[in-house]
Amino acid sequence: MTVTRFAPSPNGSLHLGHAFAAITAHDIARKRGGRFLLRIEDIDGARSRPELADEFRRDLEWLGLEWEEVPAQSTRLESYEEAARELLHAELLYPCTCTRAEIEALEPRMGPEGMIYPGTCRGMQVDPEKSAALRLDVDQAMARVGKLFWEDELAGRLVANLREGGDVVIVRKDAPASYHLAATLDDAADGVTLVTRGQDLFPATHVHRVLQALLGLPVPTWHHHGLLFDPTGQKLAKRRHSASLAHRRQAGEDGVLLAEQLRLHRFPSGISLVNA
Ligand code: GLU
Ligand code: ZN
Repeated sequence: MTVTRFAPSPNGSLHLGHAFAAITAHDIARKRGGRFLLRIEDIDGARSRPELADEFRRDLEWLGLEWEEVPAQSTRLESYEEAARELLHAELLYPCTCTRAEIEALEPRMGPEGMIYPGTCRGMQVDPEKSAALRLDVDQAMARVGKLFWEDELAGRLVANLREGGDVVIVRKDAPASYHLAATLDDAADGVTLVTRGQDLFPATHVHRVLQALLGLPVPTWHHHGLLFDPTGQKLAKRRHSASLAHRRQAGEDGVLLAEQLRLHRFPSGISLVNA
């Protein structure tokens, strides 16, 4: 059975891009007689605003969607810690005390997700007094898993390649997991068979595929959909309140009608769908 999910982070209001993502996941599940899950990704304690989870539920209801909600990430911290211990024992993680500013000062290469960590702390003794993140030793990990493939419904079969993104953070300084670890474990625990999300997360999927292999997790299929861009050519972001679904809902707009328009790829006021 097809199981899809929408997994928003409660750090800002949802916008049309999220509506498009949620509708995509919802409609695929409905069409295939499957299940559509909602998971609140509140691993980021400092930036998460609990009241937004309720706003998200009201937004989805307003769009006319039905879902099953699975436990939020903040209730699953033990499973993240356990997996991180496993990777640590397998000598695939190393502590990194670098701050963002320190990494910036080294003028690192830029990758699809921003700065690529230049590996400063790899193989080093770090100061135990400093707080440390745990990073994946990508070369080790790739050697361990060998050649891996993953399947995207739109892009086809891809070879997992971590080298472009560098040694990604697996355990954050301020949380027991990064997005990569948490989302990968949760998708497995929730029985997600088709991970739908925007094409901006293509690079993350390479990481997730390797984590699945290292942790012996089931491998879903992916469906990376196009992204919505505003009239200035920027990807829609959570910053502008006036563009939020909550704002539209509170202004009395018909959400079910909006959802229908989005399904037909009829986007409001200069917004366009861009496929990679
Ligand atoms: N919490 C992530 C976000 O809001 C979800 C990404 C994903 O679907 O894996 O961007
Ligand atoms: Zn470091």
